Amino acid sequence: MPNNYQALRSLPSIEALSLKLEAACPLPRALVTAFIQQEISRTREQILEGASPSREQIEQQISQSLQAFADSRLQAVINATGVIIHTNLGRSPLGQDAAKRLTEIATGYCNLEFNLPEGTRGKRAGYLETALAALLDAEAATAVNNCAAALVLTLRYLCQGDKKEVIVSRGELVEIGGGFRIPEILETSGATLVEVGATNKTHLKDYAKAITPQTAMILKVHRSNFYLGGFTEEPDVRELADLAHEHKLPLVEDIGSGAMMSTEDLAPIEHEPTPQQALRNGIDLVCFSGDKLLGGPQSGIIAGRKDLVAGIKQEPFFRAVRCDKLILTVLQECINTYLHTRSHPQKTDVPTLNFIAASTESLTTRAETIIQSLPAQLQASCTISQNTARTGGGTMPQSSIPSICISLTPENGSVTRLSKRLRAHTPAVVGSIEEGQLKLDLRTVFPHQDPVLGNAIRSALGE
Ligand SMILES: *Cc1c(COP(=O)(O)O)cnc(C)c1O
Repeated sequence: MPNNYQALRSLPSIEALSLKLEAACPLPRALVTAFIQQEISRTREQILEGASPSREQIEQQISQSLQAFADSRLQAVINATGVIIHTNLGRSPLGQDAAKRLTEIATGYCNLEFNLPEGTRGKRAGYLETALAALLDAEAATAVNNCAAALVLTLRYLCQGDKKEVIVSRGELVEIGGGFRIPEILETSGATLVEVGATNKTHLKDYAKAITPQTAMILKVHRSNFYLGGFTEEPDVRELADLAHEHKLPLVEDIGSGAMMSTEDLAPIEHEPTPQQALRNGIDLVCFSGDKLLGGPQSGIIAGRKDLVAGIKQEPFFRAVRCDKLILTVLQECINTYLHTRSHPQKTDVPTLNFIAASTESLTTRAETIIQSLPAQLQASCTISQNTARTGGGTMPQSSIPSICISLTPENGSVTRLSKRLRAHTPAVVGSIEEGQLKLDLRTVFPHQDPVLGNAIRSALGE
């Protein structure tokens, strides 16, 4: 017991420790005090259970957890992973025009639901919906908080009364990540899943046989994050659309990523299906994410038949998943960019697309410039090597994009430590460790960040 008694006495006072740690910590004072209070009572419990840390150990431990807590605030990160739509790093960065407009709208009032010419109450997102429909060649379109919400909303609207059955191929019962599983999404939406076909093969007649008076719709889901190869078969979408329409059923597709252009024209990668194509093939409604290949804000877009989109907007649940003015602003600017670039294709302000399209020659030149900016003795720890970048975000799992990285080999200390130091830099730099080297892929780094990246490398490699 004497040992423990000593340890209890070594617990620092909350005020004293707050004063000491607060100075070096960017968090609000009240939060620092509350955090320390919690940590001290946790340490007290550990002591009562037999631990006997010294005051120095206690203070060091608390100081470290406070730093980790402070680091968990949302903050800017330099993405040097080469994964373009990195879900953990916030998916798609926005273009400058969208960001500028966002600041303008965020810091003042706007005509969110106000008709300026008339001076009366106006339609929320009216402009955006028209612009989206024009871009997608759709009769109508709308936007909600994310693609998961778009799908739930569509299912809730189409599955009503005794018509609740939704027919889905067994090859499309996917899990996207972050808890998005088609069977569970159907269940929470009040739909009854009717699985047809086999994992690798589903025929038109499988769908036809499953149609009953209780069928609400046929659902197709894009296999975004995996691929099916070998002995596989699925019916042509146009035939499936004909079948659905003969039975007066809507055919809906969750297309996932929403590429607006031919992805194969940007880089040596696969063709990702586009919503435009899906609608041309007879799909009645498509839904997709705004922050994957579209390169916009987190949102879910629903487009297709006018009567269905109008009905969906009348659903009470629509209110629960509608976008706020900030998202609507950014999405509007992003869609405007696409509509503009139809006439000026060289002028894209969608960083996601620019990252995919950057040439390895330009990345190599940038890598050379960054390395040359370092002191000679640090340059020895850097090499330029080839790397493999990915679109990420659960899109195009088969596609790898040839890329260029700066590989760092620390002179002294481990590569894990080097990587930790770069993550502790402001702004934080996130790379990947491979074969004992830290790789910083330049494909996902904005060219304007190169000098900052150079400084981060210099301070992480130097002592
Ligand atoms: C990514 C994805 C989703 C989920 O989209 P969120 O916008 O993240 O909700 C749904 N379906 C498919 C096919 C996807 O690829």
